Amino acid sequence: MSVFRSETVACPLCGSEIDVDLVVSVNADRRPDLRAAILDNSFQRQACPSCGANFRIDPEFTYMDMGRGQYIGVWPLAERARWRACAEQTQQAFDAALGAEASPEARRLGERMQPRVVFGWPALIEKILARGAGIDDATLEVAKIAAMSSGGESPLPGERELRLVGVDDQTLTLGWVSSAEGRLGEALAVPRQLITDIEAEPAAWQELRADVAEGLMVDFQREMLADDE
Ligand SMILES: [Zn+2]
Repeated sequence: MSVFRSETVACPLCGSEIDVDLVVSVNADRRPDLRAAILDNSFQRQACPSCGANFRIDPEFTYMDMGRGQYIGVWPLAERARWRACAEQTQQAFDAALGAEASPEARRLGERMQPRVVFGWPALIEKILARGAGIDDATLEVAKIAAMSSGGESPLPGERELRLVGVDDQTLTLGWVSSAEGRLGEALAVPRQLITDIEAEPAAWQELRADVAEGLMVDFQREMLADDE
């Protein structure tokens, strides 16, 4: 079930109080429209009736897609410095619902699910795109590190992060996006072959891959983006 709750939030521009339906959980199996709205950046976007400002609510919800095996604790950017604690909380919620502490029946469902933790919309979109394209997210993180040009941009807390923003049979599009709004800056087109190449040479990438794949937050930028937010 997808769950929302009524809440009042302050417009970030003029401070007016706005009544919104805040998402608590998304069930993508039953609501593919919500999955689509996340991907097209329209989900939980709000217009202020007083000043007209258009803003996006910092997310905090559980995203579940049984069909694709995704269970994602989605956390607000404001909590990013606490990523370890947030990951622990998501792990506990997963264990209670679908893991070690759940009923045998729920546990069987949980075995097909991959629990993850993300902060902000662009990171969530990336996980959904990668899974939809059958790309392992830890391999994707290694590919991002490999693709980052040495003299190019680098992740900057509160400013920009490197995310998968598009994928087809041939190409991965990696974009430098603004963390809050997901606005796309410079983009890198990377041959999808890079994913295959990395997986064909596990030994060469083993250490890096093991590092990014440790725990629920599979994101090579997790420490870099956690500074002073
Ligand atoms: Zn306003």
